[in-house]
Amino acid sequence: MDNVYEKLKILADSAKYDVSCSTSGVDRKNTGKRGNAVAAGICHSWSSDGRCVSLLKILFTNKCVYDCQYCVNRRTEDVQRASFEPEELAKLTMEFYRRNYIEGLFLSSAVEISPDYTAERMLKCLKLLRFDYGFSGYIHTKIIPGVSQEILHEIGLISDRLSVNIELPSKESLGLLAPQKKVDGIFSPMKQITETLTERGFLRGPGTMFNNEVMVKEQGSVIPYKSRSKNKELFAPAGQTTQMIIGASAETDRQIVKISQSLYQRFKMKRVYFSAYIPVSDSPLLPNRFTQPPLTREHRLYQADWLLRFYGFTADEIADEKNPFLDLELDPKISWALRNIEKFPIEINTASLEELLRIPGIGTISARRIVRQRKFAAVRFDDLKKIGVVTKRAKFFITCIGRYYGGRDIAPDYIKKEILSADNIKMNLLPADKNVQISMFDIANPALESKNGYLIQSNLDIGNNINNNITTF
Ligand code: SF4
Repeated sequence: MDNVYEKLKILADSAKYDVSCSTSGVDRKNTGKRGNAVAAGICHSWSSDGRCVSLLKILFTNKCVYDCQYCVNRRTEDVQRASFEPEELAKLTMEFYRRNYIEGLFLSSAVEISPDYTAERMLKCLKLLRFDYGFSGYIHTKIIPGVSQEILHEIGLISDRLSVNIELPSKESLGLLAPQKKVDGIFSPMKQITETLTERGFLRGPGTMFNNEVMVKEQGSVIPYKSRSKNKELFAPAGQTTQMIIGASAETDRQIVKISQSLYQRFKMKRVYFSAYIPVSDSPLLPNRFTQPPLTREHRLYQADWLLRFYGFTADEIADEKNPFLDLELDPKISWALRNIEKFPIEINTASLEELLRIPGIGTISARRIVRQRKFAAVRFDDLKKIGVVTKRAKFFITCIGRYYGGRDIAPDYIKKEILSADNIKMNLLPADKNVQISMFDIANPALESKNGYLIQSNLDIGNNINNNITTF
């Protein structure tokens, strides 16, 4: 296929299932070349479900020799196939960038011929982009499991962020649904990235696990790499992320949260993304095509992830052996509080910061504000709203100057009922036909092509983006 626009259409569409491309906090000023990557995050636009939209998210190729059951690009699926030439994609990215359609590139790929063959072509494209076209924008590159250490290293020197998808939450599921992928092929590159970042002083302490210093940096979008120096070769300064498919296999939420915790601890991941499985296959090993994607479950897992990273919870606390699945009706912090009701109520004026962070309705910012304010005067219940506390939740779990505001009883069933009715929680899933991520071409104006065959106009308004699911490398 020679037409670049046709390739773009196929390969941007094929990439839409990958969710692990949020922004990162890289800060790089324009140095006479083209583009900036700013600390506040390259992805300034977010879809309604919180996903970024201003990267060119694309596969290098969707010609895949693997046959992962959950993937629309698998070898045995009858879809249109295409591959970019390195020059084509480098040029296309620059065309988009110059027109302000994008602020960076998220480059992923299927496995054409072999991991090294594909990765070398991706590397060639990235080199052209960085060195020939002088592109200084953000680049997030997906690493193909099984790629050689040398190629990975070179890609890391050019990219801002790397990711290797863990894909499925257990070795058994991986063996069943993606038999060509090996656990070692996934963990080895993760380990290499972690070791290189550590050697270069870009990773210190517990990564993104609960840690006050890290929390402030993450929230303020400050560069987490103080030790960057002009003389150092930068290797993936925005660190690494990974993605897990949820609902394609039988693992419990407890298993998933425990794996996430281990990924944060072992590999110092910046993020672990979850991707609700949208059925695209008739494989008997997978949920049938009419199954609703588990979007609420995905949402609860993201909330659990937040508790792991910023609130000091452990995986065992979030989902224990008796409760291996997260409550779909309540966020995991409330669920934990109700299971541990004997720890409440907590007096706002004497609780430690760690205790405050465990109270439903109190976030990281409001917890710090409480600690600051009470140095000068006791915090009253009426002050809490101004501080940013969600009092309709917090009131069941706190006392203020000794007084309880949660009603007649501090009983889990009663509190749950009250919270659900106050929040008017409706567990509506989106209609099945909306549970797909739209393609930029679904709503695009007919794109105009310039004389050289590259896009000169396209509607990239993908703000109604609904959902992503499957991993494509
Ligand atoms: S998940 Fe990746 S490797 Fe597996 S079939 Fe899809 S594109 Fe190929």
